[in-house]
Amino acid sequence: MRTSLHGMNCGDSCCLQVKNLTVRIGSDSILENINLHIHCGELLALIGPNGAGKSTFIKTVLGQHDYEGAIVFSAPGQRGQKPKIGYVPQSPAFDPGDPVSVADLFACCQSRLPAFLGHSKARRAKILECLDRVHGRGLIDKRVGTLSGGELQRVLLALALEPIPNILILDEPLSGVDVEGQTDLMDMLDEIRDTYDLSILMTTHDFSVLDKYADQVALIDHRVIKLGTAREVLDSEEFHRVFRYKGGVRE
Ligand code: ADP
Ligand code: MG
Repeated sequence: MRTSLHGMNCGDSCCLQVKNLTVRIGSDSILENINLHIHCGELLALIGPNGAGKSTFIKTVLGQHDYEGAIVFSAPGQRGQKPKIGYVPQSPAFDPGDPVSVADLFACCQSRLPAFLGHSKARRAKILECLDRVHGRGLIDKRVGTLSGGELQRVLLALALEPIPNILILDEPLSGVDVEGQTDLMDMLDEIRDTYDLSILMTTHDFSVLDKYADQVALIDHRVIKLGTAREVLDSEEFHRVFRYKGGVRE
């Protein structure tokens, strides 16, 4: 089980606090009175059934939905400043026949010049530097559409890490990744969290990784149903009720 690096007292550390967050879309209340507190260097996993509001929560932190309540980022020396957020969206689909390479994808995201003009030595070196952060320099000339689920997540992660954010947000990074790839990806997130002391917020349906990698787990279903360590949440009555588990087996 992981233990918190900063405890509940922020002191001089940075953190993201979500206070009494309510999000309505049209007449529907999608999130109600959500309170969460993530410290830098910590990973919070958001779990919940389909339609629980996990992606809506992420989009709200990214500034894409109006909300009531407060989303506050604080860091020593950065008070009042907006945090840098790195975002890995739910895996986009690329056509295997599409000629776009990983280098082209970086160029499209990071440069105003069209990818068909080729890549200067300096740009290629910069892309390799970004890919090195995810141990992925060998992927630079691969076609994006031919990458495995785990490789694609690493490329998207490398894009989200430039510039190094204060908060890294990933929506279902483990879906479409095989079991071995899931462990590799979680090990990499663990390394990145340690190296850059950033907060990680991720959603997942893969509960087997939670005990080893998550500092906090929030079970939500439009509101926070249970918040605690992985074990506290996975062993809770609330978890079993929401996911209809009986005797460790899903009904
Ligand atoms: P999750 O990611 O937990 O599966 P979502 O956040 O995607 O859930 O969706 C939560 C609820 O909000 C769903 O009922 C969904 O239909 C609704 N919802 C999400 N985005 C919109 C939108 N832009 N317009 C209307 N309803 C939406
Ligand atoms: Mg979602």
